[in-house]
This record gives sequence, C-alpha cells and structure tokens, in this order.
Amino acid sequence: MSLISIVVPLYNEEGNVAELLRRITAIMDVATLPGERYEIVAVSDATFALLEAARTKIPQLTVVDLSRNFGHQIAATAGLDAAVGDAVVLMDGDLQDPPELIARFLEKWREGYDVVYATRKSRKGEGFFKLLTARIFYRTIRRMTNVSIPVDTGDFRLMSRRVVDALGQTREKHRFLRGLVSWVGFKQIGIEYERDARLTGETKYPLSKMTKFAIDGITSFSEIPLRFATYVGFVVSAFAFIYGIIVVFLKIFGYNEPGYTSIMVAILFLGGVQLITIGIAGEYLGRIYDQVKERPLYLLSSIERGAPAAGSVPVATVAEGVPEPAPISQ
Ligand code: UDP
Ligand code: MG
Repeated sequence: MSLISIVVPLYNEEGNVAELLRRITAIMDVATLPGERYEIVAVSDATFALLEAARTKIPQLTVVDLSRNFGHQIAATAGLDAAVGDAVVLMDGDLQDPPELIARFLEKWREGYDVVYATRKSRKGEGFFKLLTARIFYRTIRRMTNVSIPVDTGDFRLMSRRVVDALGQTREKHRFLRGLVSWVGFKQIGIEYERDARLTGETKYPLSKMTKFAIDGITSFSEIPLRFATYVGFVVSAFAFIYGIIVVFLKIFGYNEPGYTSIMVAILFLGGVQLITIGIAGEYLGRIYDQVKERPLYLLSSIERGAPAAGSVPVATVAEGVPEPAPISQ
C-alpha cells in the first residue's frame, strides 16, 4: 500500500475551497492505482472553519490549523511536515495549479522520479508587470547560484518521501522552497503546463511580498550580492588610479582646476555605493539574526487527521483527457 499526500496551503480561500476539493477528489479517484491511497492536507488558519466542515464529506482530508498566518512558504512547510505520504504533491489552493496534472506527476513518480515539477508554459489572468518581473527573476536567480533552479517553475510539484524528509531537515527561516528542492537533488524532471487564472479572490502576493520573496530566494542561494562591494571597489579603484595619474600630470604642467564637479561626483557616487553595500550586508545580517533566534518556523493550533481513501475507477481510465505533457530538460 502506498500513500499519496496532496498538500494545499489555504489562506482566505473561502471562495475556492469547495471547487478545489471537488477537483482534487475527482482526479484522485481515477489517478490512484489499486494499492494506492491518498490524503489531502489543507493548511490554514483563516479558512479553518470551512475546512472543518468539509471533513464530514471528505474523510481523507487532514486539516492543519496554524496559530496565525505565517505566510505561504511556511504554511507549505507545515503541510509537508504533516503529510505522511510516500509521494507528496504541493499545490496552490486557488486552482491556478490544475489538480488534473497530478495524474501526470504520479506517472513520472511511478517511473522512479523523486521530483516532478510543473513548469509554466503560459500564465493566464496575470498582469504584464507580474509576468515580466517573474520572467526576469527566474533567470536572474538561475545565473546567480550554483544550484540548478528551473525557470518559470513555482512550488507546484510532486516529491518523493526522501525529498520531503530532506526538506524537513532544512529549517531555514526565509524559505525558498523551490530552490531547496533543487538543492536536495535526486532524480528530477519537469513537465509543462498552462497556468490558469485564479478561480476567485485576489492574489496574496502583491509587489511588496513578491520583492521580499525574490530577495529571500537570492540571499538563500547566492553570495554574489555580498561580493558586489568588492567588485565595485575594484572598478572604482581602477578609475581612481587612472584619474590620480591624470591629476598629477596636470599639476606638473601647471594646470590647477577648481575641481568642484569632480569631487561632488566622486562623493555622491561613492556615498551611493556605500549605502547599497551596507544595505546588502544588512539583508544577510537580518537573515542571520532571524536564524540564530531559533524560533520555531510555525506554531500548530491543531491537526485533525483524515483517513486515507482509495480511488474507485478501473485503471484503464487513468488520466484520460489530461493533455500529454512535453518533458523538458533543464
Ligand atoms: N497563501 C498562504 N499564506 C499566505 C499567502 C498565500 O497560505 O500568506 C496561499 C494561498 O492561499 C494560495 C497560495 O498560497 O493557496 C498561493 O498564493 P497566491 O495565489 O495568492 O499567490 P500567486 O499565485 O498570486 O503568486
Ligand atoms: Mg495564485
């Protein structure tokens, strides 16, 4: 008997819960083979009452109630910690990640892959600005780190038990899960999908949170920004050296320039560079501070465990109607 867990962080997703659970149970009903069972692990604080009520109809639903909203990445972590499956699927609760893709994840998992991640071929219902910044972000972070983090890939993915256990061992506070999963390694494969628009409600990732998340990602996986001061220092020194020679020559040949402009430019430029580098060092320092405080990542209010369910439909119909994904290489 193997168990598949589907982990969904839900924060103020009242409008989406019913349809989400309906679609997950519908696909899992046909995607689980004989000998496989599944559970759904919903993590929330605000949507809790609704989930509690849903448990009467969906006994395979485990509800993890956090003491407050700790943010998406932490909620996802709490869900991964609570999930007991041999394979664990992580997905968003706003139906931007189509549950039907889980059938494809499972096929790859049964072939022996440890991680099956879903790469966004297109994204519906999101503005030009979000698409552009996301595009730039995924490509920048990829260049800045030694870990091969796939581009245009969110947290929607399947992970094997050993990957989930490995994630359980990494307790860094500023979590960039998609990077951590790449860092874990093992056999990983991507499949492409079209990202749908949110079913109802607004995104919980406005620009400010996106920026914070991007900085979390970069600082967690790259030390290049810390070296920024060194690089700029070298460049500025080289210019200063050349300029020094020029000034000495001018002096020798009797030119005495007033020099206000050049001094102002040098002061302002170096002042700017100094502030930027202090700021960058501060970003890392703040994260070190958070880490050494050793507070738990989250606090649980309660866990109501569901009873795993088996599928019902014969094997022949598995994943019917689900588009064949194109495997991609990263
Ligand atoms: N979420 C959460 N806690 C938060 C923010 C978001 O649990 O503080 C959940 C949210 O309910 C959703 C998922 O994380 O299931 C992704 O959030 P959202 O759809 O708002 O992000 P976007 O898709 O716009 O990047
Ligand atoms: Mg979303």
